[in-house]
Amino acid sequence: MSNLDRTPVPSVCGGRGFVVAEPVRELLSPRRVQLGEGTEVRRLLPNLGRRMIGAWAFVDHYGPDDIADEPGMQVPPHPHMGLQTVSWLHEGEVLHRDSTGSLQTIRPRELGLMTSGRAISHSEESPRSHARFLHGAQLWVALPDSHRHTDPRFEHHAALPTVTAPGVTATVILGSLDDATSPGTTYTPIVGADLTLADGADVRLPLVPDFEYGVLAMSGEVHVDGVPVLPGSMLYLGCGRTELPLRAASDASVMLLGGEPFEEELIMWWNFIGRSQEEIVQAREDWAKGSRFGEVKGYDGSPLPAPSLPDTPLKPRGRVR
Ligand code: MN
Repeated sequence: MSNLDRTPVPSVCGGRGFVVAEPVRELLSPRRVQLGEGTEVRRLLPNLGRRMIGAWAFVDHYGPDDIADEPGMQVPPHPHMGLQTVSWLHEGEVLHRDSTGSLQTIRPRELGLMTSGRAISHSEESPRSHARFLHGAQLWVALPDSHRHTDPRFEHHAALPTVTAPGVTATVILGSLDDATSPGTTYTPIVGADLTLADGADVRLPLVPDFEYGVLAMSGEVHVDGVPVLPGSMLYLGCGRTELPLRAASDASVMLLGGEPFEEELIMWWNFIGRSQEEIVQAREDWAKGSRFGEVKGYDGSPLPAPSLPDTPLKPRGRVR
């Protein structure tokens, strides 16, 4: 999906100053963002006080929305730079097209992983004939400086490894959990997992103390390290944990997001992640004049125009909290 905000606020993120070295329990409230007509998402990252979790730089949760008589998701072609996008569904389907020629329907608990590298463009839409409900998350992973100019590519992994324990099934989206590793390409130490919890489940997930973590509640009634987290909200957990207690008071599902703290400072604006104002300005210009980001074929509609840049300069800065 795209950041369709017409007046996107630049976000400066990354750097050690944002990371909490100790275990914490910091509840992040979602910001409601209107995506085009009729679609509202809950934005968890970037958040007022929290910009990233490991290399995870952007998290939107949407649905479940009844789109039986609606077009559903309709995101026209738009560009990306310096990041990977992760499309993750619990219900419904998304048809993905991109400038490398991909045409792929993504279904629940399949990984749609797009590596923008230096430049890509894509569109996302609910297929004409679609399921009644649409429910999922759209996430971005920042690319490290060493790989951010790589060639664009798209991966679709329909079969992902799972880890099971009494009352819980974990699907590994990116990185590793316990002894299961996702086939998705990663560029920094990171993990993303989807956990389905049965009513009454009381489990302890193995974590890596060097990683920082957050848990996004997707559905049901779940307590994360004792804290009730409502669907569409996220609990930031900091670093220094070897395990995480999870308890479900109904059938529930959550996403575990974590990674090694991202040391490089970033500037995120609209659909771009860069390192300087000049890079962002250049990317915007290139998109506006139709160069560099390629062409998405087959989408019925015009590409998204780039919004105006803010008047204030975009500069990486220190700790904002
Ligand atoms: Mn996008």
